Amino acid sequence: MPRPLPPSGNLFAMDSAKSEMRQFRGIGASAGIAIGQVRIAERRRVTVTEYPVAAESIPGELSRFAKAIDRAKAELFALKEQLAVTHGPEHLCVIDAHLMLLDDTMLVGETTEYIERLGINAEGALKRTLNRFKSFFDGVDDDYLRERGGDVETVIERVLRSMVGEKQEPITAIDGKVIVVAHELSPADILQIDKSKVIAFVTDLGGKTSHSAILARAFEIPAVVGLERFTAEVSDGETVIIDGASGVVIVNPDQEAFRDYLQAKQRYEYVERELLKLRDLPAETVDGQRMRLKGNVEFLEEVASINRHGGEGIGLYRTEMLFLNRATMPDEEEQFLAYAAIVREMAPHPVTIRTLDIGGDKCLPDFDLFDEMNPALGVRAIRLSLRNPAAFKMQLRAILRASALGQVKIFFPMVSGVAEVRAAKALLEEAKSELRGVVPFDEELAVGIMIEIPSAVIIADLLAGEVDFFSVGTNDLIQYTLAIDRTNEHLSELYEPLHPAVLRSLKLVVEAAHKAGIDACICGEMAGEPEYLPVLLGLGFDELSMNAVSIPRVKNILRRCTMAEAQQVAQKVLTFATAAEADTYLKGEIAAHFSDSFD
Ligand code: PEP
Ligand code: MG
Repeated sequence: MPRPLPPSGNLFAMDSAKSEMRQFRGIGASAGIAIGQVRIAERRRVTVTEYPVAAESIPGELSRFAKAIDRAKAELFALKEQLAVTHGPEHLCVIDAHLMLLDDTMLVGETTEYIERLGINAEGALKRTLNRFKSFFDGVDDDYLRERGGDVETVIERVLRSMVGEKQEPITAIDGKVIVVAHELSPADILQIDKSKVIAFVTDLGGKTSHSAILARAFEIPAVVGLERFTAEVSDGETVIIDGASGVVIVNPDQEAFRDYLQAKQRYEYVERELLKLRDLPAETVDGQRMRLKGNVEFLEEVASINRHGGEGIGLYRTEMLFLNRATMPDEEEQFLAYAAIVREMAPHPVTIRTLDIGGDKCLPDFDLFDEMNPALGVRAIRLSLRNPAAFKMQLRAILRASALGQVKIFFPMVSGVAEVRAAKALLEEAKSELRGVVPFDEELAVGIMIEIPSAVIIADLLAGEVDFFSVGTNDLIQYTLAIDRTNEHLSELYEPLHPAVLRSLKLVVEAAHKAGIDACICGEMAGEPEYLPVLLGLGFDELSMNAVSIPRVKNILRRCTMAEAQQVAQKVLTFATAAEADTYLKGEIAAHFSDSFD
């Protein structure tokens, strides 16, 4: 496991003499242990009533709405200026996304229409628009996009607040070191908070992929999200322990829990410090077998953490982030600037850029989307890009242009067969010919695909002849192989990376890649679990890409394995009929050989 666990014992047992100790479990969004006092950041919803207005008052309501939008924009511009001074330019895209929402045609158009057609006040009309947005985002079958609904809500709340004349207390004024607890924290909130005073975040809402969770990881601040009603369960000043890896939150810990977690925290920090010493040591086995360890990113600000943890580049840059939360598509120039910034920041190491992995029933401007019964199996990722060749080529040109600035590779998500790869490569060639002689780019740009669909595993030999590398997206490969929705918490115990079908798939993929002389990489979450390292190494993978904090943890195990040991473990783990047996075996091996890295 990547984190030290608190010593076993009755840590979680309630102490009857101190019944006020309460334990909660949310979603671990950013690893690390924090012990401190609660500071509730009140993000109370503004209360709004809808009422009818006379026909002659309608122009007045429209003008109140327009003025409130202008005020909200002015606030955001002021915030942007302030952040540019205090934090530099990197985070400002979050504020830009909110500014763009204020120009969104649905937001403005529908609210105006409600005021005029229903003859109601501006606040009531805007609240109706908010509810429409909410039901749209709630129905979206993708965690990431569903959480984007939170951004819309934050923006609309800002306008509503301005209309009813309420001021929201900024949560910048914080005394001492505290754990900030909020119903929801917008990225703007997180950027405004003085990070030297906040030791952790806890929120009722949100998931692992919410902007705030991603920012918490980028700032390496422990965070637990998705606790549902936690703000109603604690008060300012109460002592709280949070474990940002497991998602455990303990309010008013008894002495024993306090002592155990204090030890676990000290140990975590000690291990983190020790592991960082591995930063400049080669990622290789005892007998000199190299394996590239890289980081996954969504934002530019995560690159520093990859460098700090000794990552040898970016194995997965998820470009979706740039396309979301906005009314219009980023044009080629904007995309180029975003990719170029990451390539420059990561230089001299390589950056593997994934083309847009989005779709289903999500609204993206300029894309033709369908109402789908089953979006996970719908028009998404490469399928969506191929149906929108103009937009796809725009992204390809932007990536190609960035390839002139450093080492860039490109790969396509959710590939199910050879025809898709050929079609994508043909468009890449068209993009190249449009740029040739106009701007520089890397003519030899390596092209890969993600292996995430069982059909791609079965025909890995055919696909290997078409590309320069494979990168296994184990998150989706497990989902599609086992028919387990990766976002469904009720099925989480069936989401089994060590299922024999998954292990056999991994083996097939490496064998096909190596037979064709191309690299086999993994960029799904499995790559960042140190426990799986001997298996993935033994199977022959060339590269693992993961969250930055996991890099030294995985490297630590790698540097203590021999290739022969790893191959033995991989062979053995493939003999089990169930994931549970494989897991028991692997845990035994890990305890026997690397126990000091895991306790
Ligand atoms: C995966 O599916 O494993 C992967 C890395 O892609 P994503 O998590 O972005 O779907
Ligand atoms: Mg995927």
